Amino acid sequence: MKIDSSEISALIKQQIKDFDAKIESDDVGTVITIGDGVALVYGLDKAMLGELVVFPHDIYGMVMNLEEENVGVVLLGSDSEIKEGDVVRRTKSVVEVPTGDAMLGRVVNALGQPLDGLGDIKTTSTRPVEVIAPGVMYRKSVDTPLQTGIKAIDAMIPIGRGQRELIIGDRQTGKTAIAIDTIINQKGKGVYCVYVAIGQKNSTVASIADKLKKAGAMDYTVIVSATASELAPLLYIAPYSGMAIAEEWLHKGKDCLIVFDDLSKHAVSYRTLSLLLKRPSGREAYPGDVFYLHSRLLERACKLSDEYGGGSITALPIIETQAGDISAYIPTNVISITDGQIFLVSDLFNAGQRPAIDSGLSVSRVGSAAQIKAMKQVASSLKIELANYNELLAFSQFGSDLDKETKDVLNHGKILMEVLKQNQYDTYPVDRQIIELFAAKNRYLEEFDIALIKPTLTKLYEHIVSSHHDIIDEINDKKILSDELIKKMNDVISSFIQTIK
Ligand code: ATP
Ligand code: MG
Repeated sequence: MKIDSSEISALIKQQIKDFDAKIESDDVGTVITIGDGVALVYGLDKAMLGELVVFPHDIYGMVMNLEEENVGVVLLGSDSEIKEGDVVRRTKSVVEVPTGDAMLGRVVNALGQPLDGLGDIKTTSTRPVEVIAPGVMYRKSVDTPLQTGIKAIDAMIPIGRGQRELIIGDRQTGKTAIAIDTIINQKGKGVYCVYVAIGQKNSTVASIADKLKKAGAMDYTVIVSATASELAPLLYIAPYSGMAIAEEWLHKGKDCLIVFDDLSKHAVSYRTLSLLLKRPSGREAYPGDVFYLHSRLLERACKLSDEYGGGSITALPIIETQAGDISAYIPTNVISITDGQIFLVSDLFNAGQRPAIDSGLSVSRVGSAAQIKAMKQVASSLKIELANYNELLAFSQFGSDLDKETKDVLNHGKILMEVLKQNQYDTYPVDRQIIELFAAKNRYLEEFDIALIKPTLTKLYEHIVSSHHDIIDEINDKKILSDELIKKMNDVISSFIQTIK
């Protein structure tokens, strides 16, 4: 083959011409100051908010402040080799993360890069970490339950797919346990899960990954991890990255569950960034837009209408309180953004009432629309009965002479509290929850020793599974307790209780 040199040189000339056209002085800048993972850069006049820029040694940064003379950039890698005068280039794209089914079973960092040593993630799809939440017209109200498998929650504080339910409580009150159990309970239910760990210990995240793997939950779960040892910008974008990964499935019409563990540490990392960027600080030194930080994140959780695929993202943000103070700045912000909260209390937790849910202060503002009828039938009186119990409990400490009615309320309340206890990693299918609550509601457990209640309920369920499976089938198929079914359950349970007594 003969190569024509004039053709080649014409080609090269053309390419140089095109290349020249692409470089503009607006697209490069120089570092003025650098430190604490934040760079002030002169130039970059056309940079966008949230744009990715490249420093020498292939270190990336994200544009956070746009000022007249310069831009503030936070680094997504180590700043140790970057110095004043270094050249910074625009990439003209915002921060994106890889998405898709290849992410399942993986542990990734806030940029979607693998941390688990299982090799590259083979996916071609990516999504920007920051997007505008779907508007009103794209949405519909929640109508399908998201079963947590935890009796106290599914009965009293039901969560619907597409809802945002806050888990709030002091440290070591079982917040993470509830979120992890909920992920484990999604097995076989077609829900994709994303667990975002923000500012936790590496060892904690590793043990969570291990637990999920053992429970077979990693098949449908991604862990996005930005641990305490990482840079504040990575902690800051981690929840948005997790949300972007979930959105890929949302727009394919799938149901997703995303856990943010926890947003208090997220707010702190954003405060760190803002202070380093010299933004003015407000209450508790948080910047003024700390509400928007979480509202724009949680608004992305939604239930899409059928026209748009009918997918959903259910969000379980976690907030850590100090000494049970839910009226502090960040807790009140997130309470007002979410559709309800599960409030966990140290006192209950330490008294052995686990999960330590405060039934009075916990609410779900939309989930009951999604609760199945059969559950409503057995659980509707639960909250009020517990409220009565708690009220009388305080009184009964003063007097010893209690009338029979008061004693009954106290005894029944005590039994309900016992029925609502549940071990970690031990989630119940909805039929089992309904049978246990049915037995409690209809006063079959009233004469039992407290210690015998849980074993009796377990035996009862085993008995129904082996000898009366039609009850379970009917609950699961019809999702309502018909009069005949109620009669049948009463017959089966009372004869079982007779034999066991
Ligand atoms: P932190 O503030 O450290 O994040 P946390 O509120 O997330 O804590 P967990 O880590 O979930 O709390 O739980 C604290 C401890 O309580 C763990 O050792 C966990 O195993 C135990 N625990 C949680 N829930 C239950 C439960 N239902 N039954 C028994 N033990 C539980
Ligand atoms: Mg935790």
